[in-house]
Amino acid sequence: MDYLKRAHELNETLLRDRRALHSHPETGCEVPQTSAYIRAQLEEMGLEVKACGRCGLTALIGKKEDGPVLLMRADIDALPMQEESGLPFASQTPGKAHCCGHDNHAAMLLGAARMLKENEDALAGRVKLMFQPGEETGDGCLEMIEAGVLENPAPDAAMGLHVDAGAPLGQIAWGQGPTFCSNDIFILTVQGQSCHGARPHQGKDALNCAAHLVLALETLIAREADPSQTDILTVCSIESSSKAFNIFPENVVMKGSLRTYNNDQRDYLLARLQEVCEYTAKTFGCQCQVEFEASMNAVVLDEPMEEEIKSYLRETLKDEAHLTEKPIRKMGSDDFAGVTCRLPSAYFFVGAGADREHPYPYIQHNSKVVFNEECLPLGAAALAGCAEGWLKNHAK
Ligand SMILES: [Zn+2]
Ligand SMILES: [Zn+2]
Repeated sequence: MDYLKRAHELNETLLRDRRALHSHPETGCEVPQTSAYIRAQLEEMGLEVKACGRCGLTALIGKKEDGPVLLMRADIDALPMQEESGLPFASQTPGKAHCCGHDNHAAMLLGAARMLKENEDALAGRVKLMFQPGEETGDGCLEMIEAGVLENPAPDAAMGLHVDAGAPLGQIAWGQGPTFCSNDIFILTVQGQSCHGARPHQGKDALNCAAHLVLALETLIAREADPSQTDILTVCSIESSSKAFNIFPENVVMKGSLRTYNNDQRDYLLARLQEVCEYTAKTFGCQCQVEFEASMNAVVLDEPMEEEIKSYLRETLKDEAHLTEKPIRKMGSDDFAGVTCRLPSAYFFVGAGADREHPYPYIQHNSKVVFNEECLPLGAAALAGCAEGWLKNHAK
């Protein structure tokens, strides 16, 4: 099948799906309306849809049950922010918006599913669709894994994608090895003992301890992390329980994150973070509790698979898209890491900028971000073309 031609024919459906999801954004793992919309479209295509986790969905396409299985994942959740795009189909839910573009991912995977279902007889194996909520909150992928997305049937490999309003339309960027950082969002609670600001010796100053802790954690990166690697440890919030100038706080809560591309380095730094917190707190007579709000591995792609997928992208998208010369690396994270550390995986980025030469001035996570909808048929065709090509090449 000429997936690109067919995707252009399906443009109205792609736009309808994307806009329907865009105007009714939901956040986190609880996305019942989004999930119901996607389920209805899949069932209308004749697919058997299974719930996976609270609002995740899976479905299988393909008749060769003894063939290989490729997992194709789209995240479907929005962000807790107010949309200011000015679009006629902008969010109708105050304080929630599809500013990361996951509505596009859902529409693209629905489009790919429609085409693959039409072409089901030609598939040398099966495609397992994974519509995943809770990417932004970092817990959706693992929830679906725990609910069995990687079993019955177990996929042999996986693919994911992301749109990019900061890249020109028609640009397809690819990754090589480590592509997204790991992300461990930590909450440190320094417990001291409050007392009068004029009599510091009668308490334990949690604020002073927290200040030393920020510097000690910075030094962890400066002196213990390999300088040839990219590691970031940031403390972005410090909140004292005292609001007065003359009361030492009972406790101080700090929030930050640790990011790295190397999963071994991550394990080492996390262990050291615990030690630095414990011993720095002890130095000042305080205690420090370390908790993690979310944790995810680095997304490390399978290099042979990524090379293979690049050839299908070129074949499928022809001269309507061009692959970047060099691989791309993102300092952000994607909880698809839960899959990439278990299965050989590929991932690509679909340019959704203003035109074929220019990005938009506002990109993902900005309240004014806009995605060029001409990226929809490209993304849908890319997914379908990669699926057919990969299944054929790995036929058992
Ligand atoms: Zn995002
Ligand atoms: Zn995203």
